[in-house]
Amino acid sequence: MIHNFNAGPSHLPAEVLEEARQAIVNFNGSGLSILEIGHRTPLFSEVVAEARQLICDLMQLDNDHEVLFLHGGATTQFMQIPMNLLDADETMHIVHTGVWSKKAIREAQCFGKVNILASSENNNFNYIPVDFCVPEAGKYFHITSNNTIYGTQWHKIPDAPIPLVADMSSDILSRKLDFNAFELIYAGVQKNIGVAGASLVVVNKKILGNVSRDIPPIMDYREHIKAESMLNTPPVFAIYMSLLTLRWLKNAGGIDAIEPVNKEKAALLYDVIDNSSIFKGTARREDRSTMNVTFTAKSREIEQAFLKYAAEKGIYGIKGHRTVGGFRASLYNAVSPDSVKYLISVIKEFESGHNG
Ligand code: PMP
Repeated sequence: MIHNFNAGPSHLPAEVLEEARQAIVNFNGSGLSILEIGHRTPLFSEVVAEARQLICDLMQLDNDHEVLFLHGGATTQFMQIPMNLLDADETMHIVHTGVWSKKAIREAQCFGKVNILASSENNNFNYIPVDFCVPEAGKYFHITSNNTIYGTQWHKIPDAPIPLVADMSSDILSRKLDFNAFELIYAGVQKNIGVAGASLVVVNKKILGNVSRDIPPIMDYREHIKAESMLNTPPVFAIYMSLLTLRWLKNAGGIDAIEPVNKEKAALLYDVIDNSSIFKGTARREDRSTMNVTFTAKSREIEQAFLKYAAEKGIYGIKGHRTVGGFRASLYNAVSPDSVKYLISVIKEFESGHNG
């Protein structure tokens, strides 16, 4: 058996894969594959409608918040958000916490002014800055709620007197938050929601229609809202997989039930790393992510040896990002406590062979 800790695309629940397998051959007894049905048929519009409703239910969204499944992953949102929200003479504020916020900065600069309020670049993004204040003069404030590469996470969402925008690609639906406090939330769906090919956007419709530029209709959130997420042919399979994963989460008790499991998984793994003589965590303790656990080994040789050992033991996807090195175990919702315990046993076994 393989235990998948990949950062994204990521592990999916076995029952989700099984149901998808059926649907690829014969979707809901229609005699057609989910991959070949018309996207404007009731067969598929019911999929989109249920997936959007499940997001509303799981996140307890109010009536102002609209749910969209769009093309282009989170990266397209780096561009689409400022195009919809930021005029050329307006400023957005951002806290720079890594590669993904850098991309958000770069794209927003194409549309308006960007003010970096704080940054953790001085320490290779191993912490979340706290020393800043969000000014009232600004169009919106952007954070990356979980920094997939560095294993850092905002445990307290900062107060902001202006609309709050968050890239939640790697911790969406993993913990309870007041999601209505955000004017816009976006995420690539390939980690906690489904498979690559779509992005989720949750937007408070009250903030739209407030820029002077002519937004191309395909990039205009208002057009997507009007078309109920079916402005053009949507990423059918990615939305279907999202639906199955969202149903799985709901049946498992939703965010209320998964959050303590996620905390427990992360605590177990951090505990082993903290007590290890050869491994060491890379993120500042109080900012550690429950989703991506990053750590390094004492030497390059040990690092290589552990990667090989772990692969032989059926551990997949724990090589760290090249900018951090070492290892990264991603513990998204679908990764079971048993898989985490297995990884821990492999770490301990390896360590006992490398002591002294
Ligand atoms: N933001 C974060 C926090 C991410 O982890 C990623 C992908 N790993 C992205 C944005 C980019 O997402 P995509 O590949 O879906 O464009």
